[in-house]
Amino acid sequence: MGIFCKIAAMLGFGSTDKNEQESSPAEPEGKAAESEQQSQQKTETVKPMVSSIKKYVLIGAGPASVRAAETLRKADGKCIITMIGLEKEVPYSRMALPYYLSGMIEDTGTHLRKTDNHFESLNIVHIHAKVEKVEPKQQQVTLENGDVFEYDKLMIATGSRPANSPFPGADNDGVVNCWTLEDGRKIINSIKPGSKVALLGAGFVASIIIEPLIKRGADLTVMMGRTGQMVSRMMDETAGGMIKTWCESKGVTTILPSSIKSIEAGPALKRDDDSLTEFDLIIVATGVYSNIEFLEGTGIKTDAGVLVNAALRTNVRHIYAAGDVAQGVDFSTGSKAVHAIQPTAVDHGRIAAVNMMGGNSTYKGSLSMNVLDTAGLISTSFGSWGGVDGGETATLVDMDNFKYVRLNFKGDKLVGAITVGRTDYIGVMRGLIQSEVPLGEWKEKLIEDPTLLMNAYLAQSLDVARAS
Ligand SMILES: Cc1cc2nc3c(=O)[nH]c(=O)nc-3n(C[C@H](O)[C@H](O)[C@H](O)COP(=O)(O)OP(=O)(O)OC[C@H]3O[C@@H](n4cnc5c(N)ncnc54)[C@H](O)[C@@H]3O)c2cc1C
Repeated sequence: MGIFCKIAAMLGFGSTDKNEQESSPAEPEGKAAESEQQSQQKTETVKPMVSSIKKYVLIGAGPASVRAAETLRKADGKCIITMIGLEKEVPYSRMALPYYLSGMIEDTGTHLRKTDNHFESLNIVHIHAKVEKVEPKQQQVTLENGDVFEYDKLMIATGSRPANSPFPGADNDGVVNCWTLEDGRKIINSIKPGSKVALLGAGFVASIIIEPLIKRGADLTVMMGRTGQMVSRMMDETAGGMIKTWCESKGVTTILPSSIKSIEAGPALKRDDDSLTEFDLIIVATGVYSNIEFLEGTGIKTDAGVLVNAALRTNVRHIYAAGDVAQGVDFSTGSKAVHAIQPTAVDHGRIAAVNMMGGNSTYKGSLSMNVLDTAGLISTSFGSWGGVDGGETATLVDMDNFKYVRLNFKGDKLVGAITVGRTDYIGVMRGLIQSEVPLGEWKEKLIEDPTLLMNAYLAQSLDVARAS
């Protein structure tokens, strides 16, 4: 098991590990999934509607829809489940794309379920088509080809898509995104050892595909974010700077967006001095948008995503939303946020399905969690990683050895954290933030020495256990 897989397992990032891929409605769920779900299961009561055969339509065929479909089937053997996804693929995990790019797995290794007839065997109908219209009054959805599906309950799990390139010319040959399995195939087919590759963007996706691109032998140029920093939406300046320096030490050339005017045929980048730099491949990874446009005129409230309550219901009767497209409660702030990570999508799918069947399951909010492997340097951020107003922060920086720890406190509770180059505190950080355990006297000790985190966790968790 590689380092990333180990971390992923600690965090319950299920899709690429066995628990997630192999669990089926007919089997008890794996241990990791169990612990992830324990708190919520206590409040769930599933009441399958047995009076008539119900029709469930799920828009999207990613992790959120797959988990929802399986949850529905597990509770109700007779209902009609239609899962509609626009890609001509079996359901797969985007999260596995870096492993596919690096050659660690074949494209079948990205599949969310391993048996060929998994969905057929569960009588889950998977249609490969684009949904164009949702009509809540008629309780129906219309596909691009005009086919109409009626529903009793509808779940929107259309995820997101890459943002357009900030530069003109992205429609030139040799310019791709890195979002779908098809994108992955194009990237693999375009890169040979020594190929010149420009990666436009330095956010989450960009930073985790640097390693596989280097592994394929690419001569890599990476464009930083607008701030000149890497991963500025999930790491502070110190961490982002460390990751950038690390990449440069691995032979990656870094450039600023201000040095680019346009993408030209070739493909090539037209630079600020009007010179052309040719590449074999240009990968655009400059952010994502939720797929919500097709909901216009439906009355379904949207913001950055589809707004949902703790039951994953939208404001429109019989319609739910889950996964990357859903904007639900943020554990740290209580406000609504899109947390585009797979564990959230899977939890959402399950909870939405329970509620669609008339159950009562609530989502207590997703914790912002990011784990990145950037050219072999592991970094993480959790919760309020940038700190909170009136809170205190402890940091430990070792620039030379690419090691960094930042702990953010509100009162005597840990509310956010960042690490670079350390994997030993990851489970503890998440545990302390999510359990909101008061640290008491340990807070001052941690401000003095953040490496005492494990000691603080053990001491305080034991206190809480003794008191309960
Ligand atoms: C390269 C990469 C690496 C990632 N790594 C990680 C990671 O390490 N950890 C992590 O937690 N997350 C990671 N993610 C994010 C993770 O993949 C998403 O959070 C997850 O896929 C969300 O699942 P979802 O079901 O909500 O949406 P998606 O998986 O995006 O699925 C959306 C589905 O909707 C379909 N669709 C869209 N519009 C329509 C329409 N109009 N009609 C019909 N179908 C439609 C799509 O075809 C797709 O089937 C990564 C993402 C990428 C791209």
